[in-house]
Amino acid sequence: MMKDEIKEVLISEEEIQTKVRELGANLSKEYSESFPLVVGVLKGAMPFMSDLIKRMDIHLEVDFMDVSSYGNEMVSSGEVKIIKDLNTSVEGRDVLIVEDIIDSGLTLNYLVELFHYRKAKSVKVVTLLDKPEGRKVDLTPDLAGFIVPDEFVVGYGLDFAERYRNLPYIGVLKPEVYQG
Ligand code: 5GP
Repeated sequence: MMKDEIKEVLISEEEIQTKVRELGANLSKEYSESFPLVVGVLKGAMPFMSDLIKRMDIHLEVDFMDVSSYGNEMVSSGEVKIIKDLNTSVEGRDVLIVEDIIDSGLTLNYLVELFHYRKAKSVKVVTLLDKPEGRKVDLTPDLAGFIVPDEFVVGYGLDFAERYRNLPYIGVLKPEVYQG
């Protein structure tokens, strides 16, 4: 079973759902007067985005971007390639970027600058997880669910070699899983 490959559960399903409700309530207040464009970063943000928008009791529009960072799974290189761009124009819009985790911050920094360049009215970031120790650029999310240690985590959208995204919690893999 997949769960036998998990060494430790860092954040339970229940803790995630409680936090998502809280973030959704905050964002509903923040965007009560606008019609934000909520941008999910594929593929990792998918479960978080799906749960979060259901907790936002306002009108909003969703869109997705898929970017790749030219690194391997564990290390981000800073060079960002757009695999799938938005379908919608961000000009004059309040944009909320939804991320699974911010580590170096390089991917997100690129997206924030891109949306400003494309004349968004505002650009904010909500991330489920924040790993401040990994930061390589000065980037602070507007909202973050949980601070996590500088350790490789999986689940709730986060993968190792494309697996484990469907775990309902955030966990750490047993070392033998990496060693193959
Ligand atoms: P950044 O550009 O902030 O370094 O990287 C963000 C991306 O790196 C995340 O969207 C995620 O895909 C990946 N990443 C960073 N840390 C982790 C981690 O602990 N586990 C997993 N599975 N992916 C991570």
